Amino acid sequence: MSDLRLSRRPDIGDRIKVSFEFFPPKSDDMETRLWDTITRLEPLAPNYVSVTYGAGGSTRERTARTVSRILNESALKPAAHMTCVDATRADVEEVVRDFASMGVTRFVALRGDPAAGVGQAYRPHPQGYSNGAELVGAIRAIGDFEVSVSAYPEKHPESADFATDIDMLKRKVDNGATRAITQFFFDNDLYERYVERARRAGIYIPIVPGILPIHNFGQVANFSARCGAHVPAWLAERFDGLDKDPQTHALVASAIAAEQVLDLVERGIGEFHFYTMNRADLAFAICHLIGIRPAVINTTSAAA
Ligand code: FAD
Repeated sequence: MSDLRLSRRPDIGDRIKVSFEFFPPKSDDMETRLWDTITRLEPLAPNYVSVTYGAGGSTRERTARTVSRILNESALKPAAHMTCVDATRADVEEVVRDFASMGVTRFVALRGDPAAGVGQAYRPHPQGYSNGAELVGAIRAIGDFEVSVSAYPEKHPESADFATDIDMLKRKVDNGATRAITQFFFDNDLYERYVERARRAGIYIPIVPGILPIHNFGQVANFSARCGAHVPAWLAERFDGLDKDPQTHALVASAIAAEQVLDLVERGIGEFHFYTMNRADLAFAICHLIGIRPAVINTTSAAA
């Protein structure tokens, strides 16, 4: 396992790239919180930030509004998530072209979950796309975009086995995916084994670990069960008794996520995607530990 010596080596931060994921806010209060988060994380100069897209296209407008605001009011490069849930091929094309006309060049292409919820059978729109791979092909047919896709270190719950799962990832790459971002996981060995499987299958795009800092262990445990991510017993044990102690919970969560990321750094991983849940504190602390510090703006050269 890692130790915290890396935290004294900010030079490592120069070699590591990070991205942050946000979801579109549903209220004015949530919008304020998101922008506080963006303001805090922006100086860390992430490679890009991504904005999720709700089931059934329910947040199509909110995603577009958030992406547009990021483009207009920050120096960040936004990636727009897209799903094919309940969408015709024409709908997909319209959404891609709308984003492109705003200046978006990055997409995260997902099949999505049925509007009825995670775990329900997925039925493609009769005139739509059936899976993430087909959506990637549709997006790349419109323009030379950077397209990230999902990957599942513990396989997607609908995949019969790892071979089926990896085969879907391969189809996404064949259709033009440029990066995979993983579902969150807590056991780095599982991630490493998955990457080995993918490489053996001839998949060479970056498979970026998706890191979920745990803001609420109870919620994460429930959600993990639904999306097939294993919660190790040692993790539950570390949060045991902290339900009503948010301060200690946050300290423990920060230490656990830092430990996970530092271990991956030691295994040679140089890019991380953080599921921020629109909160900056844990993501910022972890970045600090891996040597990613706020960019220092050189006012002398700017003035010259
Ligand atoms: P796919 O990769 O198309 O399929 C998932 C797996 O299921 C495949 O590996 C395949 O083997 C198997 N499979 C698919 N269809 C079948 C079938 N008919 N029979 C058997 N096996 C099948 N959801 C949102 O709604 N909005 C978001 O913004 C969003 N962002 C995400 C970002 C990331 C990085 C990740 C990892 C997930 C995200 N999700 C999002 C969740 C995602 O939509 C769900 O996990 C969804 O269930 C699968 O979408 P996918 O693109 O991974 O599907």
